[in-house]
Amino acid sequence: MSRATFRYVPFTTSQDPAVEPEYSAYCVVGEAESCGANSGILAGAIAVDDWMRGRMKETGHTEFRRRFDDFAILRRSDGLPTELERARVERVTVPSA
Ligand SMILES: [Zn+2]
Repeated sequence: MSRATFRYVPFTTSQDPAVEPEYSAYCVVGEAESCGANSGILAGAIAVDDWMRGRMKETGHTEFRRRFDDFAILRRSDGLPTELERARVERVTVPSA
C-alpha cells in the first residue's frame, strides 16, 4: 500500500473581474405556494432593493429571498497572498505560540 504525500500549495481566492456579479430577489410570501415573483438578474443590490420596494407597493408583499452570485478565481500564489490587506498579512506572518 502506498501513501500519498500532499504538499501545501498556497492559493488565493478572488472575484473574477471579467464577470459581473449577479443580484436578484424572489418573493417568498405565501403559505402552501409562494408568490414567486422574480426580479431576474439585476446590476446591483440597490436595483434589487428598488425592485422589492416596487413589488411591495403593487402587492403589499414584504418578504423576499435575495441572492448574490459571483464568479471566483483561485490563483496560485507563491508566498503570502498578495491581495490581502496589510493587517491580515501581518496576522498570517506572526508565528503561533
Ligand atoms: Zn409577491
